[in-house]
Amino acid sequence: MEFKQGDWVRIEKNGTVYEGKVMPSMEGYITIKMKSGYNAGFSIDKVRITLLENNGEIANGSNGGRNGVKESKNVTEKISKPGLPKIAILSTGGTIASKIDYRTGAVTSQFTADDILAAIPELKEIADFKGRVISSILSENMDSDSWQNLAKAVVEEIEAGAEGIIVTHGTDTMMYSAVALSFMIETPVPIVFVGSQRSADRPSSDNAMNAICAARVAISDIAEVVVVMHGTTSDDFCEIHRGTKVRKMHTSRRDAFKSVNSLPIGTVDYSTGEIKTFIDYTRRGEKALKFKPGMEPKCAIVKFTPGADPTVLDYYISNGYRGLVIEGTGLGHVSTKWIPLLQKAGDAKMPVIVTSQCLNGRICDRVYDTGRDMLKAGAIEGEDTLPETSLVKLMWVLGQTEDFEKAVSMLREDLSGEITECTHK
Ligand code: GLU
Repeated sequence: MEFKQGDWVRIEKNGTVYEGKVMPSMEGYITIKMKSGYNAGFSIDKVRITLLENNGEIANGSNGGRNGVKESKNVTEKISKPGLPKIAILSTGGTIASKIDYRTGAVTSQFTADDILAAIPELKEIADFKGRVISSILSENMDSDSWQNLAKAVVEEIEAGAEGIIVTHGTDTMMYSAVALSFMIETPVPIVFVGSQRSADRPSSDNAMNAICAARVAISDIAEVVVVMHGTTSDDFCEIHRGTKVRKMHTSRRDAFKSVNSLPIGTVDYSTGEIKTFIDYTRRGEKALKFKPGMEPKCAIVKFTPGADPTVLDYYISNGYRGLVIEGTGLGHVSTKWIPLLQKAGDAKMPVIVTSQCLNGRICDRVYDTGRDMLKAGAIEGEDTLPETSLVKLMWVLGQTEDFEKAVSMLREDLSGEITECTHK
């Protein structure tokens, strides 16, 4: 069926009827904005689409749409689910859950998910929330056990019927937790990380807008682990970042989070709730829930600097570390003096992934001599994966297998959107 942006359509999927205005949609998909203000996206070949209004005009052969006859309205009301979508909000701590301790003047994590719901009443218009406290810590205190506990709780909530998950989290290490969950969970529903750069007691706090945008993504069709935070320094929209491609790029600005080597998945308009998407993403229900826990904590990132002493690698090799990420220069280099130590790590069956301090762009160790020597010594090119994402991937892969060759082959693969085929320019 032919449709274009602005048309009003009826979509039938598995006995449920949706009506709405056609939004900018990816090829093969149709995204509509429903009267409720929420967006829904569908794979065109899995639904039946009827044109109700041709960009404002009642379509030929249709019995009317938004302003038309009662029938279609009744159909929607009768078949659509009663009540709002069920969302579990899991709080871990951080500024979004913090307030000033007037005894010490310090910011401490004290709010629970229920406190957040009480403080931001708009959330209750969007979904039916259930709160669960996982921890009340600043995110610099998280570790790989915290990631696994959080992942387990998220999986339990999805199994218990949550149609979307929000994780409130300190922003400093939010990207590490988002990466960890991206590898540990195959999800049929959105898992949305959200935080705030400025605490609720400050007039410029970003906590309410970020939480409201996060709730809109949690009920959307984007079934991935994502980070939702301010897109600009104004209160206009939030960006939706893929968990494996996001990085905190500023210490204090509200728009500190940026997708690196990828566009964000999309944006959420704060006032209308409209979600626009820019790249392909996994849709709601496309994957079955799968939990793959396991993390090897003995992994590290080592940053190469000019003249750096290579024997620093000896520390890791002789202290039981199982894998390393090197933050090399430019295309992914270390000095010639480091090559024998890389070889030593390879001989000790420690995978070594090479990433770049440039952050933007792709590793290529085939151009210069040092790079070629690094590859001969067994180094794995991290492609366009961020150093932190590579570290968590390494920890997860080594938590899944003891077999060195298998680990190396998994590390070369794109497992959760961390390697993109073509570097974004
Ligand atoms: N450093 C704290 C954390 O990451 C507070 C920062 C924040 O939440 O933005 O949890």
